[in-house]
Amino acid sequence: MTYKEKDIQLPYKEEPKINFFYYPPLKDLEGGKSISIKEDLKLDQKMKYISLFTIYISIPYCRTRCNSCCCFRGFLPHCDDKEAFMDEYVECLIRQMHGYSNKVRFRNATCAAVYIGGGTASLLSSRQVKRLIDEIKSIFQVVSDIEINLEGNPIDFTREYLESVKEYGVTRVSIGYQSKIPSVLQALNTSHNSEIGSKAVENAIDIGFHTVNVDLLYNVPGQTFQQWKEDLNSILEYAPESISAGDYMVYEGSNADRLIKRGKLPKQHEVDVVNQWYRYACSLLNENKYSERVRGIFTKDGHVQQYVKVSCNDSTDIIALGAGACGFINGFQFRVTNSSELFKKQIMNGKLFEVDSISVHATERNFMERYIIHNLYSEVVKISEFVKRFGAEPLEEFKNIFDKLLNYGLIEIDNSEIRLTDLGKKWRRSVYYEFHEEKFKIV
Ligand code: SF4
Repeated sequence: MTYKEKDIQLPYKEEPKINFFYYPPLKDLEGGKSISIKEDLKLDQKMKYISLFTIYISIPYCRTRCNSCCCFRGFLPHCDDKEAFMDEYVECLIRQMHGYSNKVRFRNATCAAVYIGGGTASLLSSRQVKRLIDEIKSIFQVVSDIEINLEGNPIDFTREYLESVKEYGVTRVSIGYQSKIPSVLQALNTSHNSEIGSKAVENAIDIGFHTVNVDLLYNVPGQTFQQWKEDLNSILEYAPESISAGDYMVYEGSNADRLIKRGKLPKQHEVDVVNQWYRYACSLLNENKYSERVRGIFTKDGHVQQYVKVSCNDSTDIIALGAGACGFINGFQFRVTNSSELFKKQIMNGKLFEVDSISVHATERNFMERYIIHNLYSEVVKISEFVKRFGAEPLEEFKNIFDKLLNYGLIEIDNSEIRLTDLGKKWRRSVYYEFHEEKFKIV
């Protein structure tokens, strides 16, 4: 049966603006509490499910503060010798890496993907990128085709820099291009302009990484549908292997939120309009042989981002290195302290890390919820894989939720898969939220 939205009264009015990457959700730590490596993370025991893991490396410095960003950690301090300043930070990352590599949990497992992000990961020199990659490969077991992703600002992605990091082992670059429209870049408060963005994309494609990902944003305050179409169509001319079409989030309390409240930036569009933009992106990108296999990232065959696939869809451990990095180990979602100075001090004092927020310990049911949220995010839950992983039928475990979603025409189910319908894609954030345990819900 095909549902039309006007035929049914959906319970949703607006979508939850939360980061679905973190489940169970992070909670700020109350004073004095911390995480115990022995008791909580069980680093001295082997993993329970699969022996794969990923590594996230945070470079917590930015040149400017973009208007709505949940990843800003701090500005790059003014210093005469940037290379020496960053060397000190890289030294701490390497010490922290060793703190994990010698533990039973990670000695008996294999790293499938590394994500060097931020902040601004491209503030590392190519020599520092090499140092991190060489160290990972020498102290951890890694899969033979390991994905090493470097995220960066187009300003840093010069031809020379990109050629060097490719030679040193980076397989995927993710370019924070966002838009070619000056007014959109201005609304975001990026440090690059459209010429620099285009040059970085051209260079990366020409050099020939396994995967070049270009980040685009839609529903930026003031952005029009016409501008969104122009951005998509012009990036398709470069034919990158991956295009990330991000629905811009204005987080409460961010600069963008303040500017909108003061009338200095236009409000964002309603969900119907945003959905039209998203559907346009899906159909244009599908026509051009891209499919959305993980979380708003449209890729050509053979270029699905392994870091997200393994960390989220397979729900493995994530080692978090650096200030502000988020990890997931033994069912604890946690974030390393946001302050880079505090982080360096702790590492130099021989501590593996201190966290500033942490989730509750995920129960078996939370692991199932996490699995469904992340796999529905990629539009499909494969029933047999769920059964293999948890020894339980998803349609029985979550009968009430799936019945409700079916009734509203938000999902469809066949013998082997559960996926979102077109209506479900429109309300996808609300659908994922259905799988949050009641005590974690905030809206
Ligand atoms: S450069 Fe990236 S991390 Fe830094 S403020 Fe802008 S969006 Fe956030």
